[in-house]
Amino acid sequence: MALEANFCRVQLDRPGPGGVQELLCVRRTRLGKTGQQICVGDRVEVEGIDWPEARAAIAAVAPRSSLLERPAVANCSRVVVVAALDQPELDPLQLTRFLLTAERTGVAVELVLTKADLLSEAEQQRWRERLMAWGYSPLLVSSKCGDGLAVLRDRLAIPGISVLCGPSGVGKSSLINALLPQLSLRVSAVSGRLQRGRHTTRHVELFPLASGALLADSPGFNRPSLPADPAELGMLFPEIRQRLEAAVCQFKNCLHQGDPGCAVGSDWDRHGLYLTCLESVQQQVARQPRLRTAGLKQRGGKEEPLLDQRLRQSSRRRLRQVEPDEEA
Ligand code: GDP
Ligand code: ZN
Repeated sequence: MALEANFCRVQLDRPGPGGVQELLCVRRTRLGKTGQQICVGDRVEVEGIDWPEARAAIAAVAPRSSLLERPAVANCSRVVVVAALDQPELDPLQLTRFLLTAERTGVAVELVLTKADLLSEAEQQRWRERLMAWGYSPLLVSSKCGDGLAVLRDRLAIPGISVLCGPSGVGKSSLINALLPQLSLRVSAVSGRLQRGRHTTRHVELFPLASGALLADSPGFNRPSLPADPAELGMLFPEIRQRLEAAVCQFKNCLHQGDPGCAVGSDWDRHGLYLTCLESVQQQVARQPRLRTAGLKQRGGKEEPLLDQRLRQSSRRRLRQVEPDEEA
């Protein structure tokens, strides 16, 4: 649930004796030796439990289904892209960049539009329809008057970890506070217990939204990133994915720029935005030919792919396989 100085706060699958729900755990040193790092969101095995003191040690970390880098959250199962309908005015290109960033993680993507109180019902409806055509089911909410928050809570109440992503100023913190009214209480309770750790940088922490459903208290990633590989970009647009499921381009390695024979065509709202993003990616590649290897970082002497690269390859496929019947 949280990493605090030398401790990990671990929520139990089932309450222990005396109704203990959480244990304050140290990491076993052999975990450190094998290079296994513990992230918020990890599923762990504990041992040496001291029930009266609610203390234990982490003995093992289970394999992860996904791993986000910033914020560092393991096993995240959905990224909620947050954008404001107004103040600041909704910018389709910026929203697209955040959606792409979310899609790159390989986990499910939800779209939430905040500050609905600032737009008329007709204007809201226009955005709703437009974004449905992009392949999303946007949820319009207002933290100010509470509209849509119950529906959002329901949408996030399925087991798994949710992380918010979006530019600053769109109302992510307000949303987190509205969804987690217990947040300030919880934070102060923790600081009482772990006072020594509190002066260190505040890390991400998970809070229960519903049984098995957790929300990261961190507003998450607020800087969008595009893939390094132009060929990867198209698959991050639901519109392109849909069209490629129905038909095949005549060209192998097609970048879907609207040429005759391209199954994607140009008759869709975000086609222009796709071309703009494609151009940025291509410029990026031209400026930095080694960009594709820049996603590797050294760890323990051997190169390991950065998180989202691994995610993109395994997780998307994996998520598809477990949907929809197995996950229920
Ligand atoms: P963050 O940077 O994404 O975390 O955004 P904040 O939650 O700090 O909110 C940024 C600004 O938007 C603040 O001035 C909030 O009062 C305002 N704001 C947040 N949610 C709403 C909303 O639903 N309606 C309106 N009108 N303003 C909001
Ligand atoms: Zn094509």
